[in-house]
Amino acid sequence: MSTVPLLEPTRERTLVIMKPDTVRRALTGEILARFERVGLKIVGAKMVWMTQEFAKKHYVADRVEWVKGLGEKSLMAYTKNGTDPKETFGTADPYEIGKVVAGYLIDYVCSGPVIAFLLEGNMAIEIARKLAGPTLPIMAAPGTIRGDYSNDSTDVANSRCRGLFTLVHASGNKEEAAYEVKLWFKDEEIFDYTRADEALRLGKF
Ligand code: ADP
Repeated sequence: MSTVPLLEPTRERTLVIMKPDTVRRALTGEILARFERVGLKIVGAKMVWMTQEFAKKHYVADRVEWVKGLGEKSLMAYTKNGTDPKETFGTADPYEIGKVVAGYLIDYVCSGPVIAFLLEGNMAIEIARKLAGPTLPIMAAPGTIRGDYSNDSTDVANSRCRGLFTLVHASGNKEEAAYEVKLWFKDEEIFDYTRADEALRLGKF
């Protein structure tokens, strides 16, 4: 018999948003099922048509590192495709490109209603990110949401002055998750219940 103590699963919460492309393509149920199937429990849900002001709060859109990161992801895609970012953006500076892309992103997430889910479970934050896959669909493996449902690319998106259709948002790390959960859900909108398979999934058998 093992003497190793049983570890309690971490009870993490993460925010997953079905973006306007998912809602419009009627993929919400199908995509949500992937998060449920992996063992994450829905403890909050709401449909919202975000204002620009709220979307900027959600992304904390003035974070310099994040804006630069958006630009860097764009540049990476342009390098991979052998296309010239200067033709689209008039610059190859990641921060300047990031500012433009951040504007496209905010317009995109405000272009229609979204459905936000608060999901709870062991390692919820990393698990949800893994299911979503990398930001650029071209880098997202089959089996991930972005790999399976999107063939959008930054050059096509940016030439149309729009954000990259990536279907879902999932909190990036513990700090972001804590901030986003508080921004989206009041305490009374979060529910505590036991999912039928919880004991079986995490118990010993
Ligand atoms: P993630 O959504 O994977 O956490 P980011 O926070 O970097 O990634 O970006 C947020 C969203 O901004 C992406 O999901 C995508 O919709 C959009 N986006 C990111 N990079 C670009 C880009 N280069 N061009 C257009 N839209 C982008």
